[in-house]
Amino acid sequence: MIYEKKVKCPVCNKEFMTTKVKTSKLKLVKRDEDFLNYYKGEEHPLKYEVFLCPFCGYAAMEKRFDKIKPSGKSIILRNVTPKWHKRDLKPERSFEDAVNIYKLALYCGEIIKKSKVELGNICLRIGWLYRIQGIDNEEKRFLRYGRDLFEESYYKEDLRENGYDEVTLSYLIGELSRRLGENEKALNWFNTVFTVCRNNKNPVIEEMARDQWNLVREGRAQKANTTDNE
Ligand SMILES: [Zn+2]
Repeated sequence: MIYEKKVKCPVCNKEFMTTKVKTSKLKLVKRDEDFLNYYKGEEHPLKYEVFLCPFCGYAAMEKRFDKIKPSGKSIILRNVTPKWHKRDLKPERSFEDAVNIYKLALYCGEIIKKSKVELGNICLRIGWLYRIQGIDNEEKRFLRYGRDLFEESYYKEDLRENGYDEVTLSYLIGELSRRLGENEKALNWFNTVFTVCRNNKNPVIEEMARDQWNLVREGRAQKANTTDNE
């Protein structure tokens, strides 16, 4: 299921091995409405989406690992490396290891001022890792943190530059709000999806937003009924 890949650290220029899951071996079992995928078998690729340099302590999502400016490199070397103890990392990551590595990536991303959407993505994934382990309060804490960052990004950042589109991000903010029990906010964001979709068609996301919008409305109706009967 897993293999090792050689990576060069853009901060300290040393080479190290990192573990990846063979995507060809993955069988999708189900997908949550906020895009968490579940696969058959033991290994979850989510655990390995962050690369961590064992020499200097720099951690970032695989896709953005090389995208660090010279100013960012010196921030890492000044603030992370002196506190980092060089260690041999086990090729296989437990969920606990993965959470810690993601949290380090979040810290690195914060101090080098990565975009809000990137930081939001890391938080969302930490939330997912807690969900898979059934740790509800920590899941919610990170979903909320991620949702707030996505919201900030929606208003302040160039979304295309960050690989998101307006429809998908509005939907995700709505769905995370729904999961956090913030129904009004969820409905507002799903409505944003419908509005944006008038000019910028995305039938798949629009339908998902429609389903989740109904779910919130039904939940509210049910709650109203129970209160009536009391
Ligand atoms: Zn390094």
